[in-house]
Amino acid sequence: MTFNSLGIIDPILRALEVKGYTKPTPIQEQSIPILLKGKDLLGCAQTGTGKTAAFAIPIIQQLCEANLDGPYVIKALVVAPTRELAIQINDSFQDYAKFTDLRSTVIFGGVKQGKQVDILKKGVDILVATPGRLLDLMNQGFISLRDVEYVVLDEADHMLDMGFIHDIKKIVAKLPEKRQSLFFSATMPPAIMELSSKILGNPEKVTIKPQQATAEKVGQALYYVDKKQKRKLLHHLIVEEKMESVLVFSRTKHGANRIVKDLNSDGIGAAAIHGNKSQTARQKALQEFRDGDLQVLVATDIAARGIDVDELAFVINFDLPNVPETYVHRIGRTGRAQASGIAISFCDQEERAYLRDIQRLIKQDVPVVEDHPYPDDGTRVVTENSSSSQQQRSRSNGGNNNRRRGPGNSSSSGSRSGGGNRRRFSSSR
Ligand code: AMP
Repeated sequence: MTFNSLGIIDPILRALEVKGYTKPTPIQEQSIPILLKGKDLLGCAQTGTGKTAAFAIPIIQQLCEANLDGPYVIKALVVAPTRELAIQINDSFQDYAKFTDLRSTVIFGGVKQGKQVDILKKGVDILVATPGRLLDLMNQGFISLRDVEYVVLDEADHMLDMGFIHDIKKIVAKLPEKRQSLFFSATMPPAIMELSSKILGNPEKVTIKPQQATAEKVGQALYYVDKKQKRKLLHHLIVEEKMESVLVFSRTKHGANRIVKDLNSDGIGAAAIHGNKSQTARQKALQEFRDGDLQVLVATDIAARGIDVDELAFVINFDLPNVPETYVHRIGRTGRAQASGIAISFCDQEERAYLRDIQRLIKQDVPVVEDHPYPDDGTRVVTENSSSSQQQRSRSNGGNNNRRRGPGNSSSSGSRSGGGNRRRFSSSR
């Protein structure tokens, strides 16, 4: 299956090529034809499946085909629960629509409204919004939903959890009757089904669950490590675990360059891809990595979008992401298709809060590996999901052995010698 065979129009195909997407993901394959027919859709899918493109592409395409030539009015509305997700969705729309005349913008709370209002006044076709700010600007008369033809409710279960149900109902009440509605949720409890039935009219259903990878196919391991020792730990793991192909994530471009420099000076083949690298340099590095000629690819999150490497065995989070959803994206890079993979995360003192948010999102504690040469002295920190003084420990790394221990059965009794623990990850591949 190709995007071409899905009947995607040329300007979007070109944009997808720029993004480096070679073929549609399962949710795109299933949803795009339904949406191009103008039907409503109930999608059971998580972030990381490619669902943004699954709804953005058909919306852009239908807007393009409508040959709009009037003033800019909001014709597509996407509502998302968090500012990060909203920004990410708007970035995706702008990427996929870069060769069209469509305009999009994003609005969210927690910042002054002035700039957002200025852009709205100039007019947009596509608006991505968090519920509170949307209602606020609607109430002030800066936004009208009168001309909306396409509406997307993304991460609906998250919206409910965050208490947005009343806001959503108020927003939906202002939408025109005649519209195409899309509703996405990772889970479908009764409250979500009820809400979806109020918004959708006889929808087609698509269910995709590759993110079982998070819990099942991808083994996760956490290393508490002093910030200054991270590069030594990285080198140690690559060598000790004989990692032939590893994708390393860095939060910053500068950090990515640094990691590459250190690895190269240690004789390990590595290259970085990030926003300051030319498209040619990025593609070259990616191709070498795919071909197995480059052992380590170091990427920032933005650059890593669209990286699809078959059978990627190891992902290492050199830095933890500050947006928890990004963790799920990152580790979803491994364990694709039938392959199993290992996602290793380094966590220094400053990153404990990020770890807490991640564990809350994935609803599990990431198994901790304490048997390594560069342990962080502050290891015994209470995590969000642990009780009182106990600390999550697992020596199984990579497996799902992340059961919590009860008080009095705590971790500190574990030996640090690591006997029998040398080939930590071998069982997973
Ligand atoms: P999403 O679930 O929409 O958040 O997408 C997850 C990630 O997959 C994003 O980084 C996208 O850029 C990327 N992505 C979406 N569609 C494709 C595709 N067809 N091929 C490769 N990467 C994709």
